[in-house]
Amino acid sequence: MLIGPGGVGKGTIARKLVERDGHLWLSRSWTTRPRRSTEDGSEYHFVERTQFESAIDEDQFLEWAEFHGNLYGTPTPQAPEDSDVLLEIEVQGAEQILQKTPDAVVILILAPSMADLEERLRSRGDQEDHVAMRLSSTPRELAKGRELASYVVVNDELERASGEIISILEGLRLRRRNPPEKD
Ligand code: 5GP
Repeated sequence: MLIGPGGVGKGTIARKLVERDGHLWLSRSWTTRPRRSTEDGSEYHFVERTQFESAIDEDQFLEWAEFHGNLYGTPTPQAPEDSDVLLEIEVQGAEQILQKTPDAVVILILAPSMADLEERLRSRGDQEDHVAMRLSSTPRELAKGRELASYVVVNDELERASGEIISILEGLRLRRRNPPEKD
């Protein structure tokens, strides 16, 4: 799971990771949030609230959460056998996944600075009040994120940050193939 405050670049990193690692499968979330003018529609399965609520009733989500008034959810993954599932989600969802799958791995993505985060939030076309609302929840998201995460990666430069995550994944896969012996 990639977690971190809105605007930190998790989505871009996630897409870069699947491009660089053929054994990663990126989940496509559902959301009731309206599409941004900067989005092409591939980012989410954009749905009405009633449609989302029906899917909840039909138990179609691995996790779901409400974030700033919109619903976001991960449909039950349908990844190929030899793939690892990659989720890009907020902290409430990550908590639910860890309860169900304690060996899931959480990587917290940070911006190089608060000024940088603010700049990135503005550049994606959100209105000023949305930017302020998103920034207001950042300290809480970071505190919770630090509790849940096993790794912290600073998104200073896309190639470098995604390379660091690939190294983390390689280490985890190695350990999965050769688990440390218990005494
Ligand atoms: P945004 O509206 O900026 O695209 O996303 C808002 C937050 O929701 C981000 O932190 C994003 O990672 C998170 N998010 C995206 N998809 C999901 C999901 O399926 N479940 C949960 N819990 N959070 C999600």
